[in-house]
Amino acid sequence: LFLSFEGGEGVGKSTQARLLADWLRTTLGREVVLTREPGGTTLGIELRNAVLHGAEIDARTEALLYATDRAHHVHSLVRPALARGAVVITDRYLDSSVAYQGNGRDLGAAEVERLSLWATEGLLPHLTVLLDLDPRIGLTRLTGDPDRLERAGIDFHARTRQAFLDRAAAEPARWVVVDASRGVDEIHREVRARAEALPGLAPV
Ligand code: C5P
Repeated sequence: LFLSFEGGEGVGKSTQARLLADWLRTTLGREVVLTREPGGTTLGIELRNAVLHGAEIDARTEALLYATDRAHHVHSLVRPALARGAVVITDRYLDSSVAYQGNGRDLGAAEVERLSLWATEGLLPHLTVLLDLDPRIGLTRLTGDPDRLERAGIDFHARTRQAFLDRAAAEPARWVVVDASRGVDEIHREVRARAEALPGLAPV
């Protein structure tokens, strides 16, 4: 079973991914691989550093670096874990590229999606949780040094938010949209209820 968390900056993806992973391990006894993009592998950590903290790069180079990270992540970590029956939860996946590089950076959603599907040989999550939040709220939740993308303007973040919402609306069977302005526990309960309903999550 393959699950992804998506959303803008400061929406609580990492926290919710961890809570869901803990619940699947302790309550259902499942093996869970909790990972993220960019940066789920050793090579991915180098790519993450390059794209987020390296030299200024153009939008196409950025999109290809994310695609490289994703191809390697899927090939070396996600597919092997799925093949042995683990649940894989990733904090961001290809919908982030479509939203950020396709819509945010204006490269075109269809082209970026095609690139991502090529990189992953068509692997899509069974469920994608969109933690939806007004970026003006999300951005104020961030602590520490903002990386390059977090410093992009509010219009950029508003476009990516809308892109996530449009994708979720176009493919409702794969997505659940969760109001991320609420408390951590309330959000977790909603995510859990949706995950519990997935075929393939029976206790082992
Ligand atoms: O998930 P996290 O917030 O750690 O992602 C790091 C940064 O990478 C974020 O600022 C996010 O906007 C950006 N990102 C991106 N395109 C992707 C994935 C992440 O711009 N495909």
